[in-house]
Amino acid sequence: MTSSKADRPVQRRGIHLSQLDWPVVIGIVALHVGAVFAVFPAMFSWSGVLIALFLCWVTGGWGITLCYHRLLTHRSFKTPKWFEYFLTTCACLAWQGGPVNWVGTHRIHHKHSDEEGDPHSPVQDGFAWAHVFWCMHKHTDGIRAADAAKDLQRDFGQRWLNKLFIVPQFVLAALLFGIGYAVEGPMLGLSWIVWGVCLRTILVYHGTWFVNSASHTWGYRNFETKDASTNLWWVALLSFGEGWHNNHHAHQRSAAHGLRWYEFDLTYWTIRALALVGLARDIVMPEPDQMPR
Ligand SMILES: [Zn+2]
Ligand SMILES: [Zn+2]
Repeated sequence: MTSSKADRPVQRRGIHLSQLDWPVVIGIVALHVGAVFAVFPAMFSWSGVLIALFLCWVTGGWGITLCYHRLLTHRSFKTPKWFEYFLTTCACLAWQGGPVNWVGTHRIHHKHSDEEGDPHSPVQDGFAWAHVFWCMHKHTDGIRAADAAKDLQRDFGQRWLNKLFIVPQFVLAALLFGIGYAVEGPMLGLSWIVWGVCLRTILVYHGTWFVNSASHTWGYRNFETKDASTNLWWVALLSFGEGWHNNHHAHQRSAAHGLRWYEFDLTYWTIRALALVGLARDIVMPEPDQMPR
């Protein structure tokens, strides 16, 4: 950790039972318990593994990283409205909250990075808080999060997706079970739910959460930003490019987070591929003299 802020005394937030958001806590614990069943032979299927990997990319890569983060939070590129809604639905499947709350919370993180007011700073409140406990608590800053995403609140489609974000996951689970049941029977249907919903959702959870915790703790820095953000290769792999987080804090609107040749950023190349078929334009990049030396 290279930030000078790491050395100062901090009043850490901790777990307070009275402030826990119980539906969120129960949901996160239930998904972890469901994911444990993936190791039981009766629940294993290679088709389940492939479905889980593909849905990790769809919900974590296209949904959270490409849509919630680079498109909706930072407007790193433009895309047709119908495609924005499709990508937002992919993000809703990750069960990390609706677009207004996710985007608003992340904008607050950038406004107060690693200082008082940051919803998830390992420097301020410890690694475990920044990784998971912050999202298990009721947020008195909920109104502020909505305020920070007024552009999305003005959008009729985004407003409704924010209210109904929890629904698509149930529709997907029913489809997975129904198709698995039709192909081979109830055990394959259950296997696809365990792998394609429970395990996949927690893999994407931890991929995203490591950006908040590990990528403000370990790794190297290309830019001397005021926060403790770092570039961390294994978080970049787990989160479809988000682990080049120091680059991102330095150039927040850049569509590319990996800025050196070896900083592989799958989401940036996905945006470039979308541009080839006319689904991404006005892609924002740092100026040549802003690139890391
Ligand atoms: Zn950050
Ligand atoms: Zn950001």
